[in-house]
Amino acid sequence: MSRKFIVGGNWKCNPKTYKECNELLKAWKKALPNVDRSKVEVVICPPALWLTSFTESFEGLGFGVCAQNCGKTDAGAFTGEWTAANLVDLGLKWTLLGHSERRSLYGETDEDVAEKVGKCQEAGLGVILCIGEKLEEREGGKTDEVNKRQLGACLPKIKDWDKIVIAYEPVWAIGTGKVATPEQAEETQKAIRAYLSQAVSSAVAEKVRIQYGGSVNPENCAELIKQPNIDGFLVGGASLKPSFMDIISAVG
Ligand code: PGA
Repeated sequence: MSRKFIVGGNWKCNPKTYKECNELLKAWKKALPNVDRSKVEVVICPPALWLTSFTESFEGLGFGVCAQNCGKTDAGAFTGEWTAANLVDLGLKWTLLGHSERRSLYGETDEDVAEKVGKCQEAGLGVILCIGEKLEEREGGKTDEVNKRQLGACLPKIKDWDKIVIAYEPVWAIGTGKVATPEQAEETQKAIRAYLSQAVSSAVAEKVRIQYGGSVNPENCAELIKQPNIDGFLVGGASLKPSFMDIISAVG
């Protein structure tokens, strides 16, 4: 089965100003590659405040919009939160969940992430579910165990697998310039797929898309995308540059 590639641009808490966002979008428009969009889906994750500010510009480029997070509750007295249903109401189709920065800087547990996944499933919102091991876990031979634990916590909440993408992002590769080798990423993503085959079904394992994330850039993406179990990328730093278009071009 051929899986449609999916490339995400995770802007995190960047750029600093609305003006800079507009400049980046103008540069992207000039550099937009002519790739077959039936083969590559692109979603951009701007900061929450700007989720709807650039809808027209993103759509003009053929890109979807993806939130970076959502709450684990329904509407109510939860100051500072927003719900999965709010995102659907805004017309969004995707959110990231469980990014390692949410886990390490904001204390999100596997259970928190699972609850959020459940709310997104109820609301019909697509989730790019981020998992991945820390350096000491890789060095301690625990990579597959960590991925299974993080993913396993969410499995009871998932009924609609068409609304799930997995982003394998080794924490040691995020924002460090130290990308996983194609062999490391492939071996780990193959193991994630094998786990899904055993824990869910071979049909789900075969169709679910698994992105690689962590220091992806225009120079290293072509080798990574050749790997059979890499179905796209979640790109942080390099998605804030005009050359993000080169990554889309390499995938297409
Ligand atoms: P990076 O970030 O590409 O800057 O390493 C990836 C991510 O955090 O999703």
